[in-house]
Amino acid sequence: MKNLTSLLALAAACIAAPATADPLTQAVKADLPGLTTIYRDLHSNPELSFKEGRSAGIMAAEAKKLGFDVTTGVGGTGVVAVMKNGPGPVVLLRADMDGLPVTEQTGLPYASKNPGVMHACGHDTHMTSWIGTARRMAAMKDSWSGTLVMIGQPAEEIGSGARAMLKDNLYSRFPKPSTVIAFHDSASMPAGTIGLVDGYAMANVDSVDILVKGSGGHGAYPHLAKDPIVLASRIVTTLQTLISRETDPLESGVVTVGSFQAGTKHNIIPPDAKLQITVRSYTPEVREHLLDGIGRIAKGEAIAAGMPDDQLPVVKVQDQHTPATFNTHELTSQMQTLFTERFGKDRVLPARAQMGGEDFSEFYLADTSIQSLLFWVGGVRKDKWDAVKGDITKLPSIHSPFWAPDAEAVISTAVEAMSAAALAVLKK
Ligand code: ZN
Repeated sequence: MKNLTSLLALAAACIAAPATADPLTQAVKADLPGLTTIYRDLHSNPELSFKEGRSAGIMAAEAKKLGFDVTTGVGGTGVVAVMKNGPGPVVLLRADMDGLPVTEQTGLPYASKNPGVMHACGHDTHMTSWIGTARRMAAMKDSWSGTLVMIGQPAEEIGSGARAMLKDNLYSRFPKPSTVIAFHDSASMPAGTIGLVDGYAMANVDSVDILVKGSGGHGAYPHLAKDPIVLASRIVTTLQTLISRETDPLESGVVTVGSFQAGTKHNIIPPDAKLQITVRSYTPEVREHLLDGIGRIAKGEAIAAGMPDDQLPVVKVQDQHTPATFNTHELTSQMQTLFTERFGKDRVLPARAQMGGEDFSEFYLADTSIQSLLFWVGGVRKDKWDAVKGDITKLPSIHSPFWAPDAEAVISTAVEAMSAAALAVLKK
């Protein structure tokens, strides 16, 4: 009986052990109050793209204190913190730093102090987790070997910061990574959960402008004019067939006309109309088909409307293209296993690829031999998630003035996940 009792006690201890005794989990828990203070300060002081000087300064100072070799001003306001710790792979961890031109309406006591600017995408949770991860990696230096490159990236919201850092020779001035990892907070997953997608995770983002030319005139005499509003309307309608009739149903894409502007008055046929379109895709083939198709449809409809060759629509694809984010299979499956073991099945949820854009993709596309992963960390407070029974249409999305993530849950989960991921790749 005694033996059985001690056996049961031992079994109970073993079952309880992983949740309480893991040194990384414990260290993250102990550091959370300090990290929360940093988070609230960053949240109160959001900065717009390429103006993240204060945020970058906080990250740089923290990394310096921990013994990283720190360089600021990379690609504008970017921070690069390098820790060389013996032979082994080079792992790059990235946090983006910019806020958005949004007026915060969360009512939080630590809401934005900068009028019209808000961390509505949660990049403040990314920066804080970056600091937390740097602390853990410095403290656990004996457990890993290799080089850690931690970067604070400017201007993700305008899709320019990653490119700016690479253009500033990120991969030649500093050790070039064999693995790149980042996370993003999620407004569509419960707090403290993790989501990974193998393959395409976020979309190619293109912006297209169309100037639809017509021939203006009096609204009472349409036969004497060429009405650009009717022509542009036809273009908008025919564009809907690019996805529904021309794209393989098993592929994905979006063509949204977000702006249609023309005219000044009831009885005047204007000389032209302007369309602004966002185009989303994953593969290069679908992207090319959609962009070519927009030009073909605009031209074809204008010809059908009787516009002469020198009056056809002017279609301009903007240069600022954000490429699709691709999670490489080897790293994604390694981390899926690692996170499931560490956090349990209940906290590692199946995630879906999204049609949003992320310029994290640039760090992989600069050299596709790199292993790359962007994962999501859920940020919706448990009480809010339960109240709507997980119906995310009833919750504020990221970029909403009401988005207030459960920051403690995001930060503690992200620090643990990022540290565990880096430790696994940099295993001795
Ligand atoms: Zn974001």
